[in-house]
Amino acid sequence: YRKDLDHFMIEEIETLITFSHLASGAIDNAQLHQDTLNLATTDGLTSLLNRRTGEEKLEHERVRVLHCGSTTSLLMIDVDFFKKVNDKHGHLAGDCVLVQLANIFTAQLRNIDTASRFGGEEFIIILPETPIEGALIVADRIRNVIENTPIKIPDGPELNVTVSIGITILDKTCNIDKKVLIGQADQALYDAKNSGRNAVRVFKNKPSTP
Ligand code: GH3
Ligand code: MG
Ligand code: MG
Repeated sequence: YRKDLDHFMIEEIETLITFSHLASGAIDNAQLHQDTLNLATTDGLTSLLNRRTGEEKLEHERVRVLHCGSTTSLLMIDVDFFKKVNDKHGHLAGDCVLVQLANIFTAQLRNIDTASRFGGEEFIIILPETPIEGALIVADRIRNVIENTPIKIPDGPELNVTVSIGITILDKTCNIDKKVLIGQADQALYDAKNSGRNAVRVFKNKPSTP
């Protein structure tokens, strides 16, 4: 704001230098904090949320649903015959497939949905405010897009990959541990695998024995 730029007093320059050192230190710290947070919450390969953060989101959503009385869906996705991809094309090609699948999940989801990498080739997706009808549409769309998207690997052929998906619902009746919910989605996923894979199945409560 000073019109005569050549006439700063030495004390003013020293004050500005001190201030800029303090400011740059604060900016560096903020950046470092953000980078550390990203490293702690995301999966290094796919850039999706990591398992711990995915489970935290699930617990948060479970409690929110109990209070709000709405319905949220939980999807568990597992790549079909993924071991064969590694065995035939190598682990680096397998990694490349996982990254592209993660990109497909993200592209198919809304901003309020969260996808996380649960394990090696297993993923969990939370769809807030989504009853079973909507979850089935999303899950089948993801399954269908993956089936119809040739996956590129470095120095190799394009691969056709499929996934199986299990779904369970969180609603005001689900005052149960998040591990039980994950177990339900896993059981539905198991049903999808048993039905021949490349399929979507919904968890059904077993009728209680008298
Ligand atoms: P299914 O249809 O029953 O799921 O068969 P599958 O071959 O996918 O199942 P399985 O659990 O036998 O194999 C999973 C494979 O995923 C085995 C493991 O080596 C591989 N895997 C796990 N994590 C990674 C990873 O980060 N990168 C790569 N390339 N492979 C991984
Ligand atoms: Mg698996
Ligand atoms: Mg698998």
